[in-house]
Amino acid sequence: MARYTDSVCRLCRREGMKLYLKGDRCFTDKCAVSKRAYAPGLHGSSRRKLSNFGIQLREKQKAKRFYGILESQFRRYFEIADKQEGITGENLLRLLESRLDNVVYRLGFASSRAEARQLVTHGHFRVNGEKVDIPSYLVSAGDIIAVKERSKSSNKFRSLVENFKGSVPNWLTVDIEKLEGTVVSLPSREDIDLPISENLIVELYSR
Ligand code: SF4
Repeated sequence: MARYTDSVCRLCRREGMKLYLKGDRCFTDKCAVSKRAYAPGLHGSSRRKLSNFGIQLREKQKAKRFYGILESQFRRYFEIADKQEGITGENLLRLLESRLDNVVYRLGFASSRAEARQLVTHGHFRVNGEKVDIPSYLVSAGDIIAVKERSKSSNKFRSLVENFKGSVPNWLTVDIEKLEGTVVSLPSREDIDLPISENLIVELYSR
């Protein structure tokens, strides 16, 4: 599977905001956006006015980067969202939030979506008791996501239980002692706290 392998901090600097791609480091003064709040590259520090297309493009890039998704997959989510009933932009965000790697991150079982993706790929999670190692797996309301029995005694998950600070979005619940979370319902737009203007992404793909 193709994936982005360059420095992820460059992506944050390109979008001019923290995308929280590196877990704990993002909250320290080592964060590249805190140190160099301008786009990477030779002309990164010179400001230029964006066209409408440029604004829409940046919004799409930002959403892709928050969720760690490449273009073709993002486009597929848009096509699915467009066919669903309701508001396309909200459908798109709901689909992205429903990815298993995102849910693992939102439950606090990983410090970043990238780490969550790796944990899922390495087979540390069960969904409703079944092994699922596909980060793009879409969860449904009522699903129970649990760390597999054998992984619970690993240093990673033991330290998680000890240090859990514990707040999850409204649409999820977590039982940290059991290392288990439940999808109470799929998220509404208000439940998704990312600074994304999804209507701009819809406009871009509707050109
Ligand atoms: Fe982005 Fe985190 Fe790197 Fe800061 S440390 S630039 S928030 S990935």
